[in-house]
Amino acid sequence: AIFFGLVCGIATGTLSYYLLALRLNPAKEILTAIKRGQFYVVYQPVVDATTLRMTGLEVLMRWRHPVAGEIPPDAFIQFAEAQQLIVPLTRHLFSLIERDAPQLQAVLPVGAKFGINIAPGHLHAASFKEDMRKFNAALPPNHFQLVLEITERDMLKEQEANSLFEWLHQEGFEIAIDDFGTGHSALIYLEHFTMDYLKIDRGFVNAIGTETVTSPVLDAVLTLARRLNMSTVAEGVETPEQAAWLREHGVNFLQGYWISRPLTLDEFIQWRPTAHS
Ligand code: C2E
Ligand code: CA
Ligand code: CA
Ligand code: CA
Repeated sequence: AIFFGLVCGIATGTLSYYLLALRLNPAKEILTAIKRGQFYVVYQPVVDATTLRMTGLEVLMRWRHPVAGEIPPDAFIQFAEAQQLIVPLTRHLFSLIERDAPQLQAVLPVGAKFGINIAPGHLHAASFKEDMRKFNAALPPNHFQLVLEITERDMLKEQEANSLFEWLHQEGFEIAIDDFGTGHSALIYLEHFTMDYLKIDRGFVNAIGTETVTSPVLDAVLTLARRLNMSTVAEGVETPEQAAWLREHGVNFLQGYWISRPLTLDEFIQWRPTAHS
């Protein structure tokens, strides 16, 4: 795929890069993959920064293609959006989660936060509210706290966002702003809308312990989150030093390889937060 990609000038990491070398039509492949059950989900634990107890998880989608192998979500989500396939794909994701829900319920406390990435293309879709309602209704009642993760770079226009976020809160969803610090319109969003969690992008977390002075932007972000009464989640925590720094600086929740990699359902239900510490 690499060689073919270079020859044809296909951008590395895109879905075409994975599939075109095989003379496969990407849009068709996504629909086939839904039908044949090639997509699956993994669950990454999120823990309380102080107690290291699990407080929830993030759902991440995976695609095991029979010929191309594992295709990362960064490659197929964007493509699905561009091809108007994000709604069927997300509905399929919901059905996979619904299937796992009874087993997840057995190992997660009431109120466990259940993070799901929502692509902007779905947020804008006419069926969005109905899709979310159906999904919520199909889960065990009052067990999970659904948290919709939305990236700041893809946010809606103010007016739209205002009413949509209000609706989501009324329906019992919480909202997290994802990849915080990598987009542009962040500050205005934080001022005007109630968002429940701010997820600090891995890029900032990476820098902890490698640079002599940690990012003044990260310091400012944490101060801001506190002032706005938002809880903070640090992504991509890979070392105990990073975890310690984040805890000392008041970050509420940690997620990353140091705590756990994303796990299959079977691995997840076996997982114990104390295993690593
Ligand atoms: P994201 O929402 O920022 O998800 C976190 C990504 O960081 C995941 O990559 C996860 O596997 C990875 N990660 C977690 N801990 C660590 C760590 O300690 N170190 C490093 N280096 N990486 C870590 P993944 O699963 O490849 O997903 C990439 C992106 O694809 C996600 O970024 C999200 O934007 C998107 N995505 C994944 N699943 C879905 C989905 O079901 N729906 C939508 N709309 N987007 C999804
Ligand atoms: Ca996310
Ligand atoms: Ca993120
Ligand atoms: Ca990301």
